Amino acid sequence: MSHSADNSVPTVEPREQKINLLGLSASRLEEFFIELGEKRFRATQVMKWIHQAGVDDFAQMSNVAKPLREKLAAIAEIRAPEVVERHDSVDGTCKWIIRVEGGSCIETVYIPERDRGTLCVSSQVGCSLDCSFCATGKQGFNRDLTAAEIIGQVWIAAKHFGQFDSKATRRVTNVVMMGMGEPLMNYRNVVDAMSLMLADNGYGLSKRRVTLSTAGVVPMIEKLGDEIDVSLAISLHAPNDELRNELVPINRKYPLAQLIDASRRYLTKMPDIHRKITVEYTLIDQVNDRREHAEQLAALLVDLPCKINLIPFNPFDAVDYRKVSNNSLHRFRDILQQAGYIVTVRTTRGDDIAAACGQLAGSVNDKTRRSERHRAKRAAREEIIASG
Ligand code: SAH
Repeated sequence: MSHSADNSVPTVEPREQKINLLGLSASRLEEFFIELGEKRFRATQVMKWIHQAGVDDFAQMSNVAKPLREKLAAIAEIRAPEVVERHDSVDGTCKWIIRVEGGSCIETVYIPERDRGTLCVSSQVGCSLDCSFCATGKQGFNRDLTAAEIIGQVWIAAKHFGQFDSKATRRVTNVVMMGMGEPLMNYRNVVDAMSLMLADNGYGLSKRRVTLSTAGVVPMIEKLGDEIDVSLAISLHAPNDELRNELVPINRKYPLAQLIDASRRYLTKMPDIHRKITVEYTLIDQVNDRREHAEQLAALLVDLPCKINLIPFNPFDAVDYRKVSNNSLHRFRDILQQAGYIVTVRTTRGDDIAAACGQLAGSVNDKTRRSERHRAKRAAREEIIASG
């Protein structure tokens, strides 16, 4: 299998349009069977076959009557996106390169820990935002992933680890929507896919083990809280609007005060009073890692039940930012801890296979010309440096 880096030629095989059942939430699957004139419980049966047994062939669905199986095979399919490569890191982290319809590739990462296994799932081909320190952003944007392509990443990982036949070497116990893309810019498909992660007849993950991370699409945070109960992480990265406008441009539209407010309201909608928002803060050397930044952050979050996850910036080719020094990292952490916050430092995993946070780049047929602009800017900068 080879991974094509070709950005321009889509490879789509012509085929008749069958409905892909992989991405249908429980309620959509029920609607599908009712429209076929079938009983509701067929949806439960088929959902279990797909997401608990990992079956993608109707012929194997032994408790479904044969005529119905044949009817299903004629009009529907269960199709995960195509894995083109898998990379295994020395630390056990594993990254899949997955080709989606249209020819672009997305990436999915599995991070094993002693007592759990976290799958980092992508929501878009590229990203519709353009955060200054993120490799995905530099790739531009092609399109939203379908619900089948999103849940398909979980299905592929579960299948790989043998999770479906209980001989599992490892399992997916947690999902974080922290791969490529901004999940709240692909709201409907992400919510449908997450509902399958949570569903008893799906992957049955607890709501504390499914986390959506957002750069701050405020109106969608409101909507999310009305519809589904998952853990919420916000990508803050700066303690004031001036700096955040520069690092996370969507801040110009939805400034910090609005984001913090929406996050607080999100928690009040949840039944569990002990829940906390995870605040992600990528530390970049000399940019957002100073003493006063930590102090501002401590003041900013004072009314938000939260824990803070510090992420040392992972360098990649297209930017000049540097990783935070150990001294600044510790100083930053200590200031927040002394202010009473729970602070964790995210350890870098899988950087030998470019699977660390912010390094997921896939190969995106960019529709925005953003990647081209970034390349041109960089070339101009290098020319200035070269000419002294
Ligand atoms: N768009 C969503 C989901 C992506 S999450 C969001 O922004 O939350 C990816 C996480 O990795 C975010 O917290 C992001 O800010 C962080 N990240 C991005 N680039 C990084 C880099 N180069 N080094 C470390 N962390 C990075």
